[in-house]
Amino acid sequence: HLLPASVSATAQQYPTTHEKIESPRDTPHFLDNEFISSKASQWIDLHDPATNNLVTRVPQSTEAELKAAVESAKKAFPGWKSISIMTRQQVMFKFVSLIRENWDRLAASITLEQGKTFADAKGDVLRGLQVAEAACGITTQITGEVLEVAKDMETRSYREPLGVVAAICPFNFPAMIPLWSIPIATVTGNCLILKPSERDPGAAMILAELAKQAGLPPGVLNIVHGSAKTVDFILDEPAIKAISFVGSNRAGEYIYARGSANGKRVQANLGAKNHAAVLPDCNKNHALNAIVGAAFGAAGQRCMALSALVMVGEAEAWLPEIAERAKHLNVNGGFEEGADLGPVISPQSKERIEALIQSAEDEGATILLDGRGYKPEKYPNGNFVGPTIITNVKPHMECYATEIFGPVLVCLSTPTLDEAIDLINTNPYGNGVAIFTGSGATAGRFQRDIEAGQVGINVPIPVPLPMFSFTGNKASIAGGGGNYFYGEAGVRFYTQVKTVTSLWRSEDAVLRRASVNMPTNS
Ligand code: NAD
Repeated sequence: HLLPASVSATAQQYPTTHEKIESPRDTPHFLDNEFISSKASQWIDLHDPATNNLVTRVPQSTEAELKAAVESAKKAFPGWKSISIMTRQQVMFKFVSLIRENWDRLAASITLEQGKTFADAKGDVLRGLQVAEAACGITTQITGEVLEVAKDMETRSYREPLGVVAAICPFNFPAMIPLWSIPIATVTGNCLILKPSERDPGAAMILAELAKQAGLPPGVLNIVHGSAKTVDFILDEPAIKAISFVGSNRAGEYIYARGSANGKRVQANLGAKNHAAVLPDCNKNHALNAIVGAAFGAAGQRCMALSALVMVGEAEAWLPEIAERAKHLNVNGGFEEGADLGPVISPQSKERIEALIQSAEDEGATILLDGRGYKPEKYPNGNFVGPTIITNVKPHMECYATEIFGPVLVCLSTPTLDEAIDLINTNPYGNGVAIFTGSGATAGRFQRDIEAGQVGINVPIPVPLPMFSFTGNKASIAGGGGNYFYGEAGVRFYTQVKTVTSLWRSEDAVLRRASVNMPTNS
């Protein structure tokens, strides 16, 4: 019953409580469609964030294991690339239905290893599942172009896979972010080496099992583990042609630079500080609920969490009501009935978040709601931080300049919308932004002038569904953007264009002499 999902390659049972696991099992690799124990000498302990009990040990994959994953993917590529696209599409249909069947099991693994509530973990799975569903439409998404460019001559373009590609994932969406890569990379004909976060690889392991069951041939998806050392191997391995990274600026800027310098295509989604501007003419009840949900859901550990509030004009007076609503959120173990937010990922993360709250106090801000030191009765050893609201924040303060990645909302005020827009645009990040207003004209103005790449109008977390792409900008995406995840851009990322120009003369050539000049006729 209490087998950690991450290591129960075939077990259908999954945990439904935070009870201690008596004999935790090590997380295996996934290589050639088999779960294989690692020969690693270094292991990373993974603890349940609600209790800090050991759940599993994650290997720091050895050089030999990493090389084996590359060899397996290289070997699988020619066959997988040349298989009919309808066969790849069929695998995707099955993958989608298996994810649905295993939805609760995936979510349980997430709650156990990552800490978010079971209901929220189900959303984590769904948002990834939707990318797999969209990938089922590959037969119309990958078509090329053809043009008759001269008499008897035509040029055609084809989208071909890149070969072996890799994905490096963060801890905060253990199912959704692997699913930003697995379906699109494989359905387009690539072989993928995926490195889940070493802090919660369980959901990715279950996804690998389901991908095998769905019919992915051996080597098309391999899973390796570890932290910086594994990442360096991926960055330097010549056979790996492209890297998908999602995570912090610190790791992502390094990965983008080193991966690009090694000639690889890199997409890298990074950190954020997402603002909401609240105008006094908005639907107040909707706005306040949306803000509380988006700031504190998943304990603020979403890249699109709403973490900075800009109250415009008289809306400032609503801050105590936001605190009142936040106070009533149920902070508890993620498997507990009615839990609104769970713990943060690690004791170090809790310490860091609480230090940032302290820095705000030291710099003269007001702690309107203080979640430091919060301990749910049943979980005294967990990494809990209660909802925290900091007011009178100024842009120079550390709590504003830093991505906190915890259940902390920093609040600023401006007299006008113009000043709110200036303030938000001055922030280096550009992931998401929201405005709450009752005026279409005001919303239109905001939409035009605001720089962040994903704008919500009365929508607190405007993550586009997979028929669009995830379009953060500025410091929230490496390399000036463009290499977006999922949607049409996602298919482009995992493919390269081949053009073929052909000439089939409909009559005998008449000229006896070869021409050496480039054609000058149109
Ligand atoms: P992280 O950068 O610490 O880890 C992400 C991955 O990089 C992990 O697989 C990790 O093993 C690896 N890594 C970490 N440090 C490394 C280093 N020094 N060298 C090489 N590899 C390294 O990120 P995290 O804490 O797991 O995730 C949270 C961050 O991810 C937040 O900043 C959040 O905003 C961001 N995020 C962004 C998006 C987005 O789409 N923009 C989505 C989710 C999360």
